[in-house]
Amino acid sequence: MKPYANLIGGQWMSSNDALKNVNPSDTDDAVGEYASATPNDVADAGKAARAALRGWARTTAYARAEILAAAARELHARREELGELLAREEGKTRAEGIGEVGRASQVFEFFAGEAVRLPGERAPSVRPGVEVEVIREPVGVVGLITPWNFPIAIPAWKIAPALAFGNTVIFKPAELTPASAWALIDILNRAGTPPGVINLVMGKGSVLGTAIIGEVDALSFTGSIPTGRSIAAKAMERMVKLQLEMGGKNPLIVLDDADLEIAVDCALNGAFFQTGQRCTATSRIIVQNQIHDKFVSALSERMQRLRVGHALAAETEIGPVVDQRQFDSNLRYLEIGEREGARRIGGAVLRRETPGFYLQPALFADTSNTMRINREEIFGPIATIIRVDGYDEALEIANDTEFGLSAGICTTSLKHARDFQARIQSGLAMVNLPTAGLDFHVPFGGRKASSYGPREQGRYAAEFYTTIKTSYVRP
Ligand code: ADP
Repeated sequence: MKPYANLIGGQWMSSNDALKNVNPSDTDDAVGEYASATPNDVADAGKAARAALRGWARTTAYARAEILAAAARELHARREELGELLAREEGKTRAEGIGEVGRASQVFEFFAGEAVRLPGERAPSVRPGVEVEVIREPVGVVGLITPWNFPIAIPAWKIAPALAFGNTVIFKPAELTPASAWALIDILNRAGTPPGVINLVMGKGSVLGTAIIGEVDALSFTGSIPTGRSIAAKAMERMVKLQLEMGGKNPLIVLDDADLEIAVDCALNGAFFQTGQRCTATSRIIVQNQIHDKFVSALSERMQRLRVGHALAAETEIGPVVDQRQFDSNLRYLEIGEREGARRIGGAVLRRETPGFYLQPALFADTSNTMRINREEIFGPIATIIRVDGYDEALEIANDTEFGLSAGICTTSLKHARDFQARIQSGLAMVNLPTAGLDFHVPFGGRKASSYGPREQGRYAAEFYTTIKTSYVRP
């Protein structure tokens, strides 16, 4: 099997090394081999991106929009095939995979529109006879480093605005999920991006990260907090513009006056869908006294009925965990929770027809917010319950975390819902909705240790992918 190649300066470049892409639903199934780029390849990609920058930035916005729109159309047309590929390499269900490819298509379509809508300003000067203009220009060569949990949507929401606003790109996808990334770059390449405008360098972040930082004017990263911190420190040495999206420990408050069915749906979806591998996943469910027992028993019951299985099997609701390392980490947290005295429901290791990383979703009841299972991001199908007396205590606990990505509340009280919206310290606030599940046309991002730099997505993406020039003119 010939490895899939990297794209550098418009050429598909093979490599001496390749990484095997393994299906987490069936570890005997190899999805393919993907060439590992070297730091030298990254340097070549940097040169190509730099050389292409002027020409690309000067194309008309409409020409760039047409390329993005063509990519959106192909993604839409191939969403079933690519969704299946995504599910096969990442382990989310086929339906979730197809949904994600559909989302990537919407994102490209949206930014095709944004390319031609990018506004400037004209302001009166305080001096007579002077005109002032504020315009946005491309930032330059942009490095994009992405995780495995949304292998096509996250690349899409970084690449689309980068290209729309005239930047050139060095893109490094996660080593666990290169197939979706490769397919996306192939589409963009055939859609007509000129050589060097988009460069794909696959392989390990630990090998390529420093080289990427050395080549770029701006870097957008989504991944873990330790990696984000180390990238940020290196990037600051070169004054690289930064955007980091990292972890979460997202709370969902359930008040006594909540609609029980809505609350259980929100918790089930937020905590366990996509195998809990979302940075916006619900991990701490903070439940008021009176509804507590009813809620925990209804949620446990629904959770234990979730069908865990091969990502591509029609009946599967929850796919496998992405790989051995993540699987072991989940098991470690299950042990930690028990040692800390929490009551575990579910969480059995499951066997299926094919060898894969199958884990039954788990809920820890009777936990306190000081336990490690409530402080550290687990990134798996594991959630906790924290019992509280009232709303004020719930809000205090919700905010008592180093993270601040998403947070939710289930209540029929307008007063509490409004107060929660105002006082929750997170970038996303959900009322009677799961903490995960977002629209593509509005900003996404968090506070505290969850995020750094300008927001992603929607019109706000322009803040990161453009830089402002203020011109003063005496005509
Ligand atoms: P996870 O633990 O969920 O895989 P990571 O933060 O390790 O999260 O990975 C997210 C992305 O960051 C991946 O593309 C990975 O290859 C990349 N990465 C990992 N280490 C580094 C590093 N030192 N420098 C740059 N990128 C890195």
